[in-house]
Amino acid sequence: MSPGELISYEPATGRELWRGRAGDVDAAVDRARRAWPEWAAKPLATRVELVRRFANEVRKEHDKLAELIARETGKPLWEARTEVESVIAKVDISVTAYAERTGQKRLDSALQGTAAVRHKPHGVLAVLGPYNFPAHLPNGHIVPALIAGNTVVFKPSEKTPAVGEFLTGCFHRAGISAAVVQCLQGAVAEGQALVAHRDIDGVLFTGSAQAGIAINKRLATNPGKIVALEMGGNNPIVVVDTPKVADAAILVVQSAFTTAGQRCTAARRLIVKASMYDALVSEVKNLADRIIVGEPFADPAPFMGPVIDNRAADQLSESFIYLLSNGGKAIKHMLRQDEKLPFLGPGIIDVTAMKDRPDVELFGPLLQVIKVDDLDQAIAEANNTRFGLSASLVGGSPQDYNRFWANIRAGIVNWNRPTSGASSKAPFGGLGLSGNHRPSAFYAADYCAYPVASTEMDQPRASLGAGFREERRKARRPIGD
Ligand code: NAD
Repeated sequence: MSPGELISYEPATGRELWRGRAGDVDAAVDRARRAWPEWAAKPLATRVELVRRFANEVRKEHDKLAELIARETGKPLWEARTEVESVIAKVDISVTAYAERTGQKRLDSALQGTAAVRHKPHGVLAVLGPYNFPAHLPNGHIVPALIAGNTVVFKPSEKTPAVGEFLTGCFHRAGISAAVVQCLQGAVAEGQALVAHRDIDGVLFTGSAQAGIAINKRLATNPGKIVALEMGGNNPIVVVDTPKVADAAILVVQSAFTTAGQRCTAARRLIVKASMYDALVSEVKNLADRIIVGEPFADPAPFMGPVIDNRAADQLSESFIYLLSNGGKAIKHMLRQDEKLPFLGPGIIDVTAMKDRPDVELFGPLLQVIKVDDLDQAIAEANNTRFGLSASLVGGSPQDYNRFWANIRAGIVNWNRPTSGASSKAPFGGLGLSGNHRPSAFYAADYCAYPVASTEMDQPRASLGAGFREERRKARRPIGD
């Protein structure tokens, strides 16, 4: 590979899918800056109309985009289709969110004038995307940014450049100019240069905690730039008493292994009450044994595809061995079907006896199990992490859920539902290493525009209050004196 060259490979076959070169960061930012005043000055209705046309464009290209996502990420085709649906749905949701959260408001109208709150776009925003939802997640930042009147330089993950390019093409075919939303291809170096560029006004990032922290540090001396960080998790699913063991097991398996565990909200830790342990863990294992792992277009359809690349598969296998050799007990070994391709079977390991469990995000189909005595211990264990993205309670009474909800530290807290699969109509974000209190999805509107408070009057009109001396005008001398 020559310097600046990027290649993406299909994880399921190892075949080359896309080849191109890293873009020019300065040129992209300069172009976006020059395009900004005109885009920001367009009436909101025009910008909304254009993003609606984008949704239609994606609708037209539905099958092509789904196939490309499946090929470039390795996720099953049925799942790639749901990602395309989310891209389309995002547009209407973002239009509503803009109106609800960043619209205009006239406050009191009185003798002192009218008070109003309106919102303005920041300017040029950098959007950095991850590989696991290469269309839906960056789109969740791009669409609200465009509606608010920002121009966007979008750097897709270097692992999914083809989807990034395709998505950006849909904006252009919808009539949004190639300067208003640009796809800047590149790897970490281009991401770093973009984030550090003096002429961007903010960074909307979705990715790992490690990269998010680096971006936060890089911009720490620029408090005027908006930084929205959506990062990973070490998410707990807590199972307490319930007669519905089979349902509980399905929720656990869906939480841990959908998208081959490559979801930020995937359950990494199953925390289970001792009274439920045997029945639940055996049911979870039975289900995991039945999971079909296969290439995205296989028939019958797989539940899980490969992980993104061989490096990720190697790291996950090493993590499993690390847990195993440090006190973990394998419930189901994480098996690699073929050393040359990154297909992994689901792995389940009991780490109850392990001291100093590593509090890291193991981004793949690997579930750690911890046995506890009661709900209080479960909550303490669930909170025993620096992350705080999603958490679910399965079983228990409404009072148990109230206690769980009140005490758990996470931005998404569910009851008898998986940890993943959040609604785009709700805010989406986490605490600690999972985010910087700038939740995305419905609340992305909040940081794509800033509020301006004004008091206004059509004529200058003013009177003096307390604290002035009586006026002493000089007595005029009569003329001719
Ligand atoms: P990543 O952090 O490796 O990369 C994300 C993007 O940031 C890429 O475009 C990459 O090139 C760029 N980047 C990496 N380091 C950078 C740096 N120092 N400066 C500037 N840019 C940099 O993430 P990934 O491996 O593509 O995605 C998986 C991660 O994303 C997981 O940790 C997952 O939990 C997280 N994720 C979070 C959410 C969420 O909404 N909270 C959603 C999906 C994925």
